[in-house]
Amino acid sequence: MPAPCPTAIAALKVAAGDGNWSEAPDVLAPRLTDWRGHFHGAAPLLLLPRHRDQVVAIVRAAAAHRVALVPQGGNTGLVGGGIAPADGSAVLIATNRMDAIRAVDAAGLTMTVEAGAILQNVHAAAAAAGCEFPLSLGAKGSATIGGLISTNAGGVQVLRHGTMRMLVAGLEAVLPDGSVLNQLTGLAKDNSGYDIKQLLIGGEGTLGIVTAAALRLVPAPACRVVAWAGVPGPHAALALLARLRQASGGQVESFELIPDAGLQLVLQHLPGHRAPLAGAHPWHVLVELAGQDGLQTVMADGLAAAAAAGELADAVIAASGAQAAALWRIREELPEAERRDGPAAHHDIAVAVATMPDFCESATRAVEAAFPGARVLAFGHLGDGNLHFNVRAPDRPDARAWLAARHEAIADLTYDLVTAAGGSISAEHGIGQLKRTALARLGDPAKLAAVRAIKAALDPLGILNPGKLV
Ligand SMILES: Cc1cc2nc3c(=O)[nH]c(=O)nc-3n(C[C@H](O)[C@H](O)[C@H](O)COP(=O)(O)OP(=O)(O)OC[C@H]3O[C@@H](n4cnc5c(N)ncnc54)[C@H](O)[C@@H]3O)c2cc1C
Repeated sequence: MPAPCPTAIAALKVAAGDGNWSEAPDVLAPRLTDWRGHFHGAAPLLLLPRHRDQVVAIVRAAAAHRVALVPQGGNTGLVGGGIAPADGSAVLIATNRMDAIRAVDAAGLTMTVEAGAILQNVHAAAAAAGCEFPLSLGAKGSATIGGLISTNAGGVQVLRHGTMRMLVAGLEAVLPDGSVLNQLTGLAKDNSGYDIKQLLIGGEGTLGIVTAAALRLVPAPACRVVAWAGVPGPHAALALLARLRQASGGQVESFELIPDAGLQLVLQHLPGHRAPLAGAHPWHVLVELAGQDGLQTVMADGLAAAAAAGELADAVIAASGAQAAALWRIREELPEAERRDGPAAHHDIAVAVATMPDFCESATRAVEAAFPGARVLAFGHLGDGNLHFNVRAPDRPDARAWLAARHEAIADLTYDLVTAAGGSISAEHGIGQLKRTALARLGDPAKLAAVRAIKAALDPLGILNPGKLV
């Protein structure tokens, strides 16, 4: 698409309304680079609507003038989905100002929020009503509900509560023709044909701009128990997960796998952390049980039995909320520690849960053999069959150049291994710009054809987030 002409820019400003746009370079700059600094965009204008009807007017103006719109929320996405193209051909539309928590229905276990609501604020509002919104991730202080929906975000509670797809009861969105998809009611049962809102969940802003959502809640658990265990490897970790699931009657809320190299990165690069266990362990597990009172005993007994079975070498149970938070901070800040350490190729991949330990070991061997000096750092949501299979450049002065020369080949090999194992090249971060070529190469042709047909049907002018996903 060509860069928007002055008439188009003027029409978009009018549509957004007074005070709801900016052309200031310092306001735009932080929105034109992603969190990892991989993608750099350009845009002549940032639109900041406060109300759904302004979004409608903006989309209509964009369609009339053939201007591409790039939706953005907290800009914490990891695949460049919210970054405008570098040629300046698109305008940014940020939904951050639409951030009201409209209602919390504790009896019905739903809450209605606007797209710009920040995840941490959603957590707080749910907690104030004695409920919990059971989706959390490291970027919770910035990520917005609109972005989380559009990336079908996962996080650390998926093994019990599912991804965003399972947690959206209702949705309101502006479609590419300016019409409003109004499905906010969130009916438990609605078999009246295709579930269009599910197309927008994980749609990465290519099919509509999310303006509000009804989210599913769960009752706040009476008891939470967090533990850290040193384990011999991913196989033992999976055995520990099965044991704790059985012992707790399915109350394992989170189960995160961390290699020792990951823990060491956090200790080395970020202040205020200490090693949870005294000895050295090749792998670590962070596990949380949540539910009825009595889980402390379940956790203690389960860990003791796991130690007797050789599934773990040492473990500690958090004795207070502060200790539990400190253990969680290690996991949540691992991506930041990795970022500070140096360059890496990032692969957010999934395979069937039962095959993940074998995959992790064999793929690590294959990648490290093919790229001597590369250091695999695989961590994350073992219980979901989802690890962040990151490949760090060797620790040497020309690390960036080393990685730049091999980045694509490392990704190709990793995705080939994942595909051969029947897995997915994107578990929870999406496709965005980062994985578009890989998806076109490795995706199911029938699914890709259907995706293109849906995009063409709903957005025939191609104005919503072109160059992403599809
Ligand atoms: C430290 C860190 C840890 C993370 N951990 C996890 C994790 O554990 N699990 C996980 O799943 N993800 C994780 N993420 C990435 C995750 O995808 C984002 O945090 C989040 O889902 C995106 O929300 P956002 O508001 O920042 O969206 P943005 O980054 O602004 O946008 C993301 C995508 O959504 C689209 N979009 C944004 N708002 C709208 C809207 N209103 N309507 C339509 N489209 C819209 C954008 O166009 C873009 O394609 C992590 C990120 C960081 C930085």
